[in-house]
Amino acid sequence: MTDTTLVWFRRDLRSYDHAALYEALTRARRVHCAFIFDREILDPLQERGLVADRRVHFIHRSLVELDAELRRRGGGLIVRYGYARTEIPALAAELGADTVFVNHDYEPAATSRDADVAAALAADGRQLLSFKDGVIFEKSELLTGAGKPYSVFTPYKNAWMRAILAVADPVNAHPSLQAYLSPVDDARLAPAPQGMPSLEDMGFVPAPLTELGIEPGMSGAQALLEGFLDRIADYDVARNFPSRPGTSHMSVHLRFGTVSVRALVRRALEAMHNGTGGSGAAVWLSELIWRDFYFMILHHHPHVAERAFKPEYDRIAWESGQQAEDRFDAWCRGATGYPLVDAAMRQLNETGFMHNRLRMVTASFLIKDLGIDYRWGERYFAERLNDFDLAANNGGWQWAASSGCDAQPYFRIFNPVTQSERFDPDGSFIRRWLPQLSRLSARDIHAPWLAPQTRLREAGIVLGANYPEPVVMHDEARERTQQRYLVIRKTA
Ligand SMILES: Cc1cc2nc3c(=O)[nH]c(=O)nc-3n(C[C@H](O)[C@H](O)[C@H](O)COP(=O)(O)OP(=O)(O)OC[C@H]3O[C@@H](n4cnc5c(N)ncnc54)[C@H](O)[C@@H]3O)c2cc1C
Repeated sequence: MTDTTLVWFRRDLRSYDHAALYEALTRARRVHCAFIFDREILDPLQERGLVADRRVHFIHRSLVELDAELRRRGGGLIVRYGYARTEIPALAAELGADTVFVNHDYEPAATSRDADVAAALAADGRQLLSFKDGVIFEKSELLTGAGKPYSVFTPYKNAWMRAILAVADPVNAHPSLQAYLSPVDDARLAPAPQGMPSLEDMGFVPAPLTELGIEPGMSGAQALLEGFLDRIADYDVARNFPSRPGTSHMSVHLRFGTVSVRALVRRALEAMHNGTGGSGAAVWLSELIWRDFYFMILHHHPHVAERAFKPEYDRIAWESGQQAEDRFDAWCRGATGYPLVDAAMRQLNETGFMHNRLRMVTASFLIKDLGIDYRWGERYFAERLNDFDLAANNGGWQWAASSGCDAQPYFRIFNPVTQSERFDPDGSFIRRWLPQLSRLSARDIHAPWLAPQTRLREAGIVLGANYPEPVVMHDEARERTQQRYLVIRKTA
């Protein structure tokens, strides 16, 4: 038993079912809790003028709830603004904490930061202890028969399910699914001084959250989850239609750990078992397994943060120069002339969320219609998505670029018009985000440039004036992409 410890919260902003907090409470007599608003992450946002960042606001609001919950239990959260690499060792020394407890973070920048913090602590006779918390299986817990990490999803998923179902009653007995319930009384939680830096103190301003339906904190996650569980049985179908409330919207909560992934997996398994999950619960569970999969890929292949998973794809010659930059800009603004793509980008720009189907469509459009390096789009999403997560975002972009593990084959290219007809058949998603197109019929709304002038006039559309002409023609772009990707075949 150690004497005094510090739990350093990062992407795990909850007070329940928290591996590091549980371990600290089990092993120490006095447990301090802290969060650092890390300038290594915040300064670049400010430098790019992103001072109304929804994520910073989400974190701030979630910390207020976490602090209140810890105070209710006799503790509290120390919140500081600075560089975590130096703040944490300094705080540990100030508090006399011999051990700092954290949960694993698999991103390369975070592992480098944690290594520095561990070294600084060690130099001062202290230690950093890290635990699995944000995933069900991690690192090398699941390996192929040959003892290698998986690089294809379906066998990984099968192994994941086998490992879970190897226990007779997984929900109640599988070690990777059990909640970390505080084993001792909360008297070990050390009180914290009141107060935390305001958004303004850190150079940020509040961003719209609740107006967008984003309720932060553990309570926000719980309310969202309960609402989704009423709909989970239809998930497999409804999840494809961006105008329907088909998906869970749990991603931002998973990103910041305001919900426990173990709790989500248990609820999915229960719904599958008791029949309330219909045909949707198993598909939803599969999405959570994708999440584990991409964390595992990032851990074993950290180069994907910079380069293609499959090295031969680094040889692709992407479009460059002014035209590419102008087209990229049109894509970012939602002004490509392809309504589904544009509506999706407007949704992203205005809310920080984009539906999964549309992430696939817009990513494919950028890469395979505009011929632009997937990393440009990956960076743009990273800047804008509330749920931005390096592992999942990179996995999604490399899937669309065909350069990733288990990616879409390069010759399979989404048609943005047929995707629109299939997944937004009456155009209601497009109408919501592009009101200038709202008077177009369901027949014309997917490709306005194909509509006769009379019908465009009746709908109040002047192409090139109040809605753009298409920036490229899909069929021609498709041909160019097939050529561009030939280099893969020649070098493979
Ligand atoms: C180009 C691209 C970029 C993406 N970037 C991100 C990102 O930065 N952060 C992120 O969390 N997801 C990302 N995704 C995956 C997916 O689009 C989102 O997780 C999903 O849209 C979030 O909505 P939801 O919570 O309603 O999902 P649901 O459909 O309800 O799924 C439940 C949960 O499963 C996980 N999940 C679902 N699909 C995937 C997937 N394909 N890969 C990994 N995890 C998944 C998420 O944690 C999600 O919250 C990306 C996908 C693509 C194609």
